[in-house]
Amino acid sequence: MVTTPLITLVDTHAHLDADEFGTDRDEVITRAHDAGVTSIITVGTSVESGQRSIELAEQYPGILASIGIHPHAASTTTEADIDSIARLAGHPRVVAIGEIGLDFYRDYSPRDSQLQVLQWQLEMAVRLDLPVAIHCRQAHEEMLAILHDWTTRYPERHSPGVIHCFMGDIETARGYLEMGFYLSLGGYITYPVNRNAHDVMRFIPADRLMVETDCPFLTPQLYRGQRNEPSYVRYTAEELAEIRGVPLETLARETTKNARRLFGFEEES
Ligand SMILES: [Zn+2]
Repeated sequence: MVTTPLITLVDTHAHLDADEFGTDRDEVITRAHDAGVTSIITVGTSVESGQRSIELAEQYPGILASIGIHPHAASTTTEADIDSIARLAGHPRVVAIGEIGLDFYRDYSPRDSQLQVLQWQLEMAVRLDLPVAIHCRQAHEEMLAILHDWTTRYPERHSPGVIHCFMGDIETARGYLEMGFYLSLGGYITYPVNRNAHDVMRFIPADRLMVETDCPFLTPQLYRGQRNEPSYVRYTAEELAEIRGVPLETLARETTKNARRLFGFEEES
């Protein structure tokens, strides 16, 4: 008889409040648990989506919330919205501020408002003593400078946060790692176009690596074109274990330990 090794994974970045899960959210969460994904961080992108994320975290064991305002929404964000996020973040199921960051690829919001909203939320994270979940697209140079300044001003913070869906070269990875950040990788690592990034995937130290889906987006190659969901984080973990030349059990154990350390939670069932 063949037995599948029992592994535990954490999907460190999912958008379970998305409309795409409106009709079968229960099944999606059950499938995740069956696949060994015992914990999911569901990530808000606005005040409303943060509220929904907290409701999901209250409703389902193993689900925790990260809340923040996405750079895409920066142009319509006021300081009152930041205060709302700060109030919501007092909820015991909130484990991080995010996703927050810079997106100079889509540029849906002017860059100066993206920078302002990011700065407000970085300061808030310090006040609330929560790690941050950073979104960064085509803005690593600016982001490294901002986070360097931030971590220098608050040197007592041991785990400043995570760079979600990290895609960058070894130099960029080193910059974030030196500041104490974790790097989280998603389903895009299974895309043939990203074969040339395997050196970066091997470079990240085992004690700073995490896995995520960013679902419903970025579906792994096997199901590309369909909706992504937390159970598929397993395909990313399998691919990553192979690239790094370690058993899946090892990769699962390490990434799960890192997620629990950064977000400060225990396993729930
Ligand atoms: Zn996301």
